[in-house]
Amino acid sequence: MVEVEAQADLLFKDVAGYLKADDVSRLQSAYHFSEAAHHGQFRKSGEPYISHPLAVAKILAQWHLDPQALTAALLHDVMEDTAVTKDEIATTFGRPVADLVDGVSKIDAIEFQTKEDFQAENFRKMLLAMARDVRVILIKLADRLHNMRTMQAMDAERRRRIARETLDIYAPIANRLGLNAIYQELQDLSFRYLHPTRHRVLAKALKTSRGNRREVVGKVLDAIVARLKEAGVEATVTGREKHLYSIYNKMLEKQLSFAQVQDIYGFRVIVRDVNACYIALGLLHGLYKPIPGKFKDYIAIPKANGYQSLHSTLFGPFGMPLEMQIRTHEMHKIAEAGVASHWLYKSTDSELTELHRKTHQWLQSLLELQSTSGNAVEFLEHLKVDLFPDEVYVFTPKGRIMALPRGATAVDFAYFVHTDIGNRAIAVKINDELMPLRTELRNGDRVEIITAVQARPNPAWLNFVTTARARSQIRHFLKTMQLTESVQLGERLLTQALATLKTSPSDIDETGWDKLLRDCGLKTRRDLHADIGLGKRLAAVIAARLLQLAGDGAATPRIAGTIMIRGTEGMAAQLARCCNPIPGDAVIGLVSKGQGIVIHTQDCAVIRRNRHESDRWVDVQWDDKTRRAFGVNIRLSVANERGVLAQVAGAIADAGSNIDNVNVDQADSSAYSTINFTIQVSNRFHLAQVMRRLRRIPEVVRIARVKGTQRERE
Ligand code: MN
Repeated sequence: MVEVEAQADLLFKDVAGYLKADDVSRLQSAYHFSEAAHHGQFRKSGEPYISHPLAVAKILAQWHLDPQALTAALLHDVMEDTAVTKDEIATTFGRPVADLVDGVSKIDAIEFQTKEDFQAENFRKMLLAMARDVRVILIKLADRLHNMRTMQAMDAERRRRIARETLDIYAPIANRLGLNAIYQELQDLSFRYLHPTRHRVLAKALKTSRGNRREVVGKVLDAIVARLKEAGVEATVTGREKHLYSIYNKMLEKQLSFAQVQDIYGFRVIVRDVNACYIALGLLHGLYKPIPGKFKDYIAIPKANGYQSLHSTLFGPFGMPLEMQIRTHEMHKIAEAGVASHWLYKSTDSELTELHRKTHQWLQSLLELQSTSGNAVEFLEHLKVDLFPDEVYVFTPKGRIMALPRGATAVDFAYFVHTDIGNRAIAVKINDELMPLRTELRNGDRVEIITAVQARPNPAWLNFVTTARARSQIRHFLKTMQLTESVQLGERLLTQALATLKTSPSDIDETGWDKLLRDCGLKTRRDLHADIGLGKRLAAVIAARLLQLAGDGAATPRIAGTIMIRGTEGMAAQLARCCNPIPGDAVIGLVSKGQGIVIHTQDCAVIRRNRHESDRWVDVQWDDKTRRAFGVNIRLSVANERGVLAQVAGAIADAGSNIDNVNVDQADSSAYSTINFTIQVSNRFHLAQVMRRLRRIPEVVRIARVKGTQRERE
């Protein structure tokens, strides 16, 4: 515990160098809070757990990060490892700190699995997207750095896994943000745990060669310093050693031996301004001969992460290659700390708006640097996506990562995977839980679409999908489906309508069809069928018009806005089963999708329900020449006397009607029963005759026609 307190004291001494006194004391209370929360927890190495958050905060203090970020660093593991909640942190330390801790915890919860490059790149993007606030990434990188520094106590397998992930994911992120020092250290540590033997051999060789090189390095340094001083250029000159992983990589990539790689000596010259950079370059080129083709001007054309420097390789003493880097102090700061350099070298403001301003400044400065390199816009777009994301990254069941626009739903995802998956989607599992298809996806979700072969897109999806791809695919499918169905239906309706006029589509000559299509302003018969199927035109009207145009005038007089019904029209004009209209009833036609015209009695409940849709109504009238019988329902209340059913049936038959169906309800009381008949009559007058006959039977106490008691249908 004494060691931990000493460690804490060191941290607070560090931050006192750049933070206000009350910020420091607030940070101290965060330390006590975290210490209490982690109390009794130990790291694998045996140290108290609190030593880890302290170390992470110390790394961030080197960059002069603001108090919020430092507080969050001290608390970064409490949500995951202790009972402390986000709300508790928010109450005690404020919402911004709670958001930072939450952000770090969320990143921790995701495990990187596949090894493909493409997936690694997406995963990096996802982490950056999830972070939203660049400070979350900085805390996470410091966390990873400290864990990598203290991995000895872990077993070899776990070390390898963490090292692999660091090399694939976190080191490239550090590089992208320009955090060079961390980038190199993460790479070296990963190398050490991934290839322990190679690391050990190389480290030993490096140590030996360092001794051998000392003399040469000293000589060159003296010569450079002297020449610059002579010319009046103020400069700091240092010898530069390659880090292990870059030596290893160079050997691997360029098939060089260690000696060949180490034969190259590196130096760095740091000067006051850009002018001095070029002056120093000229002086060095005068001192040692430059190797042709090795000069690179990263001041004029900076690297993607903002790195600026002049690079040149010279022939040194005994022909040894000397790699020179020349840059200003400002460029050096960015080269080492990248995005963090804004905290390190500017004011200590802790406001979030200030943070945004700084991050924006960083992007802006990169943009300016990039403007000479040609693809500045593309570059900025790229970086913007990373830091201010408008994308979400989700997993497929197989662990692939898909990038979707923010706000995308499960249906968008389905169409993104494949059009067929979208068209057949019926449900979705998000992180193994069944969710509605409209659910908005979040970073890191694992999404599994459940499909069914016969499933079809639901028009309601159009209300919530956000991607243009899903929207257009759904529209396309619905349109195609509706059109196909409508065309088929329309053709059937027209054929039936023509059949009632004792003709058929093939009997109409081409002239007739052409005239009709021209009259209707349509191009093809298919269009006409679609119109009929969609209820825009009436099959009966079209059929009559066709006959007329084809020269058969006989059919025309009947059609004058009103359609004559014989009850034998089949599908084109069906009698509604809810009200069972019979000739003589006041009727009205309702154009119903998929059913042609359905004839209802004017007092039918269905008509009342659809009264607002007046464009679907059609005036219809009974044709006097109806010759068929129509079914109608009547209900009788009869006294329970023996033989009454036979009497009633006899009376119906006497009136010239047939019984289609009879059923007797259970007795209402011991004295009376209700009998329902479906009987056949030719019209309303005929029905009246039947009912009059029935009333003459003394046992019949009540009699009524029944409409709408059966299942109502349009
Ligand atoms: Mn941690």
